[in-house]
Amino acid sequence: MFQKKTIKDIDLNEKKVFVRVDFNVPLKNGKVVDDTRIKAAIPTIQYLLNCNAAVILASHLGRPGGEPKEEFSLKPVADYFEHLIDARVLFVNDCMGAMVEEAAKNLQNGEILILENTRFHPEEEANDPLMGAKLASLADVFVNDAFGTAHREHASNVGIAKHIPAVSGLLLEREINYLGNTISDPEKPFIAILGGAKVSGKINVIDNLAGKVDYFLIGGGMANTFFAAQGYKMGDSLVEEESLGIAKEILKGTGKKLLLPIDVVISDEFSASANNKTIPIGDIPESWSIMDLGPLSLNKFGKIIRDSKTIVWNGPMGVFEFPAFAKGTFSMAKIVAESNAVTIVGGGDSAAALKESGLSEKITHISTGGGASLKMLEGSLLPGLEALNDK
Ligand code: AMP
Repeated sequence: MFQKKTIKDIDLNEKKVFVRVDFNVPLKNGKVVDDTRIKAAIPTIQYLLNCNAAVILASHLGRPGGEPKEEFSLKPVADYFEHLIDARVLFVNDCMGAMVEEAAKNLQNGEILILENTRFHPEEEANDPLMGAKLASLADVFVNDAFGTAHREHASNVGIAKHIPAVSGLLLEREINYLGNTISDPEKPFIAILGGAKVSGKINVIDNLAGKVDYFLIGGGMANTFFAAQGYKMGDSLVEEESLGIAKEILKGTGKKLLLPIDVVISDEFSASANNKTIPIGDIPESWSIMDLGPLSLNKFGKIIRDSKTIVWNGPMGVFEFPAFAKGTFSMAKIVAESNAVTIVGGGDSAAALKESGLSEKITHISTGGGASLKMLEGSLLPGLEALNDK
């Protein structure tokens, strides 16, 4: 059960509501190129408008380093957002100061005010108490709906929550329900598909899930370190020498639960146009590298996926940025999408592969947060969630 108060638990009629959203979206030439996160925030914003609240939206965008920089302005996002909602949308080019206070004071119920990038001030990432207090002074209620930054302790998601009633938005609640509650009490068989470059980034995830999963299906560069730990020669494959010890311990601790690829696609250089061939797993020839999962591995993993009831997937199965080595990741996206299980996908590369394949709709929950979803899979508490009022 979700432990924190949400927007459904409090009176919002004619209230000024400060909502921390995650509008940290990719821009190209000043245009939004992926609106997933913006659209994911709309149910909460629409709910607040329906309650006749005046809505102040705050977010960060990129890493401006604590000073105003035009390429990190939220103005293009505000312009884009305006077309997605049936309400008056205003923008103010700072998030603190007299101008912002004036704009917030004049904001009418049913209107939306978007503030400029919170990271234009160094106080944001330092969680400076004064900034938290200033942001809180703009509103009656604080709503956190920014799952993507919930693993950070910043002024606009943690500091502000000390001063006014602080509740969860609908997106944050949904993310926590899937990445926390579903995974801690999953319908079995439960499997975790893990990929990406490194074992080191996923050790805590494996530790946290080891007692819960029926299988770990491992792909991507992280499988290489496990193969090296088993004594195979890895050629030029990406191997984390410093993680060999922990990889051996994981192999011992997880035993038959941890499944590695049985065949792989290798290449003679790390490039899109490299020569490649598919081989059964064994010693990798000198100067060749593992780049992707092979078809036998996909077949083997596919059978297990089809038999499972709960699936969590985080990380690509190969160097999917190069089309020649994207097959493992895109085939995995298809297999997961076709499963009848509850499917939960961490943000980032796996989410991008699903989107590119047009399969996102078939997934139960695709997270809007990369780092934050990994923290959840590690079983860590998120400061942005902890700061909210208990039910
Ligand atoms: P991560 O950020 O740890 O999820 O890793 C994502 C990155 O892992 C992607 O950029 C992939 O290109 C990379 N990756 C996946 N498989 C391999 C591999 N076999 N060798 C090198 N890099 C890989």
